[in-house]
Amino acid sequence: MVDPQVRFEELVDKLREREYRLTPQRIALLRLLATSDGHPSASQLYDQIKDQFPTTSLATVYKTLDVLKGMDEVLELRFSGDDNHYDGHNPHPHPHLICVHCRKIIDLEVNIAQDLVQQVSWRSGYQIISYRLDFYGVCPDCQEGE
Ligand SMILES: [Zn+2]
Ligand SMILES: [Zn+2]
Repeated sequence: MVDPQVRFEELVDKLREREYRLTPQRIALLRLLATSDGHPSASQLYDQIKDQFPTTSLATVYKTLDVLKGMDEVLELRFSGDDNHYDGHNPHPHPHLICVHCRKIIDLEVNIAQDLVQQVSWRSGYQIISYRLDFYGVCPDCQEGE
């Protein structure tokens, strides 16, 4: 696990290198992305930033996410019938666990992916660029609520 503060500084540096204008709103967004392990959607990020910076627009959030996506510094998780969610903490493909009740998305801290990618590559002859591995279930909190 990367230290969220280290990851935050990394994101700031990467955008600064590109001479991307770092407004306080964008800094706040980078901090949220780097420190959040909850995989927020753009509108969830916007809701959090808006409290601090009422002039921020959802378009600004999307624009910054687009820039980060273009640099492979944020992982976009698309779900049909739901907003896209983002992982700025770990931008590399990794398995996720999704609760079908509360829609919470967490990282799966199990080292199965690397072996799987190697096997798929070996069996298919494909050079694997990326992958999606999602596990759906009911999280412990929601199980208790039942
Ligand atoms: Zn849940
Ligand atoms: Zn993740």
